[in-house]
Amino acid sequence: MKNEGAEGEEGARSNTSRRTFLLAGGVTLVAAGVAAAAKLGRAPALLGLGRKSGPRISGGWVNESAAIGHRLRDRAPMPAPRRTVRVPVVIVGGGIAGLSAAWQLDRRGFRDFVLLEMERETGGNARGGENAVSRYPWAAHYVPVPGPRATLARELFRELGVLTDAGWDERTLCFAPQERLFVQGEWQSGLEAELMNSRTGRDELRRFADLIAERRASGEFTIPMALGAPAGSPLDRMSFADWLAANGLRSPAIRWYAEYGTRDDYGALARDTSAWAGVHYYASREAAEQGPLTWPEGNAWIARRLAARVRDRTVTGAPVHRIVRDGTKGWSVRAGDAEYRCEDVIFAAPTFLAPYVIEGARAPGFVYSPWLVANLTLDRRPDERGASPAWDNVLRSDAGLGYVVATHQSLRAREGGPTVWTYYCALANRDPVTERQVLLRSNWSDWVERIMMELEVAHPNIRRCVSHVDIFRIGHAMVRPTVGFLGADARRTREWAPRGIHLAHSDLTGFSLFEEAQYRGVAAADAVLATHQLG
Ligand SMILES: Cc1cc2nc3c(=O)[nH]c(=O)nc-3n(C[C@H](O)[C@H](O)[C@H](O)COP(=O)(O)OP(=O)(O)OC[C@H]3O[C@@H](n4cnc5c(N)ncnc54)[C@H](O)[C@@H]3O)c2cc1C
Repeated sequence: MKNEGAEGEEGARSNTSRRTFLLAGGVTLVAAGVAAAAKLGRAPALLGLGRKSGPRISGGWVNESAAIGHRLRDRAPMPAPRRTVRVPVVIVGGGIAGLSAAWQLDRRGFRDFVLLEMERETGGNARGGENAVSRYPWAAHYVPVPGPRATLARELFRELGVLTDAGWDERTLCFAPQERLFVQGEWQSGLEAELMNSRTGRDELRRFADLIAERRASGEFTIPMALGAPAGSPLDRMSFADWLAANGLRSPAIRWYAEYGTRDDYGALARDTSAWAGVHYYASREAAEQGPLTWPEGNAWIARRLAARVRDRTVTGAPVHRIVRDGTKGWSVRAGDAEYRCEDVIFAAPTFLAPYVIEGARAPGFVYSPWLVANLTLDRRPDERGASPAWDNVLRSDAGLGYVVATHQSLRAREGGPTVWTYYCALANRDPVTERQVLLRSNWSDWVERIMMELEVAHPNIRRCVSHVDIFRIGHAMVRPTVGFLGADARRTREWAPRGIHLAHSDLTGFSLFEEAQYRGVAAADAVLATHQLG
């Protein structure tokens, strides 16, 4: 579904609209600490635009699916059913949640189901791509080493050979160095680098770590969250920004560091995130963890293995457009020209779609963050200063979240040859509706320019090294755990969803994580098994 023509078609726009886009995106790289970045922050249009400083870059948009989503939203006419399939259980959506539901049904011996996926390929946010240089992720790229309570994740990793009696497979544990930060004009080791460079920073980091350790000890901040989250935590009634201020954590460095967590996991600023969720990012993980687990194609490595197990019961390219009652007990699920008549539906597509698709379903009222992911193919490694290249390379800015190196786990990566970087940008600076509209109207070449401008602060000759850029824009990429999310009615799906519909998407947790998607998918499958008395 690549749109290679995007550049030519849109590239003719005036520099004014391009300038507006670059400025509107809130590209402020001042904190990266170099003069060029400071200049960029004030007037990005002056640098880089129209400059022929590197070879032409090819590429375009990929995985575009907004048009199908809009047809569902607008209840556009769909083909009438021409064939009927009778099957006890239908799974709608083949992301990690839907695939995990299928995994659970299958391993419990219940094989009479079909999984319907809208895209050509299953995986959802855990899809990946491949080119001559490497495999690479399209969104999810790692799983923290599962803690003791993430029993399902541990079971799956045992089945896949990632966990054995000898421990975690060394090839999947992220190689050192894992993270570095570009700050004060050079790459420095670890995301804490800026804080570690001053006494105030070190004091604030210690205070933050103490507060988090105290919360971790409460046992409330578990993964999966359902095992620990209290019904009405006072922390869920304030924003993470207010919680930081209330605890005297005010310097720009500690605010950036803490907010990196909410931007990274929720695509949201600290002021737009529940303090419970902000704390969860740090307190749910062990202080010193071994991992994370990662693969060149990210979590697509897991998704493809789950998909292989149920390939014979999977239909791709099948967007479900209507689910209506069929008699008193059953459901009719319509996808393309087929009607699937079933008793139970596991709805593992994003929950915001439920009211558009399912008869009798209400709108959950969740907020979703838009994201942009770009895969950059580099012919060689660009110049840089400071700490050695890491797996995760973060620039101290409020624009993108930096890039992950797909070839990091290979020895070739150390040789400076061709590589693929996956660049991440959470569009969090303005409200999600505005960000989504701007994202859908933006053009590919402006985004390439914006990414180059951002990265050339740390890699001055980046334009000479990048040959290809594919970009995936995800309008409703992940749910936001906003203030009050823990207590939201729509999260109590048993009361909320119509009978026979089992909601399973990870968005019900507020935490867009592999383990949460897996937990919800398995929980929905268990509910189905219980009604069929196979649990
Ligand atoms: C940029 C980004 C980076 C991320 N990084 C990480 C990470 O590193 N680690 C991590 O653990 N998590 C990460 N995540 C979170 C990731 O979303 C979850 O880990 C998980 O993959 C979500 O799975 P899911 O099944 O709940 O949802 P989704 O992945 O959203 O799956 C939903 C599926 O439903 C399908 N669908 C939608 N509508 C229909 C329809 N009408 N009919 C049929 N099918 C339909 C979709 O095509 C999709 O396949 C990231 C997310 C994003 C956006």
